[in-house]
Amino acid sequence: MPVPKRKTSKRRRDQRSANKGIKPQIFTACSHCQEPINPHTVCMNCGHYKGKKIMVTKKERSAKRGQERQAVAQKLQAKYAQQEQKQTAENK
Ligand SMILES: [Zn+2]
Repeated sequence: MPVPKRKTSKRRRDQRSANKGIKPQIFTACSHCQEPINPHTVCMNCGHYKGKKIMVTKKERSAKRGQERQAVAQKLQAKYAQQEQKQTAENK
């Protein structure tokens, strides 16, 4: 019967057993958008959990912010256009 030539050092033994606890990560598909997600977590892509909308996602928030900024920019443009019209009317 083969016998090991030397004792396995603590370092070697512990290095070998360091990876024993690692398990492959399990993914499930989101019920709403089919994006791979961790089980029992809210989908970060669409904000759904168990078929219900739970939270506002980062994308939606940024889209809303963009719309608000556009609205403000349009208001300012309209204001400046009115001011220019008044100035040109006064100059004539
Ligand atoms: Zn989703």
